[in-house]
Amino acid sequence: MKPCMTTEDAAEWRQHNERLVARNMRALSPCEDCTVRFAVEMRLAGRCDGWPEDRPDGRPWSRSADERQEMARRRWRESKQRTRSRATA
Ligand SMILES: [Zn+2]
Repeated sequence: MKPCMTTEDAAEWRQHNERLVARNMRALSPCEDCTVRFAVEMRLAGRCDGWPEDRPDGRPWSRSADERQEMARRRWRESKQRTRSRATA
């Protein structure tokens, strides 16, 4: 589990990731689904050293793959934001 995630986050993310039908769309690490902004924040906070980037196995970073996954990613990011605003409220 990544230090940038709570146990709850990690479980949610795993569920979200496994829901992706195409196996090659699934991320190997939750950090792949982070926004750059979030990754920078977590880095500055010392909570994660991960980075949203291409996978080591060379999954092609195509525009269409991005578009297909955008909705799932957005759902994940929104739930992450909700968790974070709960935590800071
Ligand atoms: Zn991370």
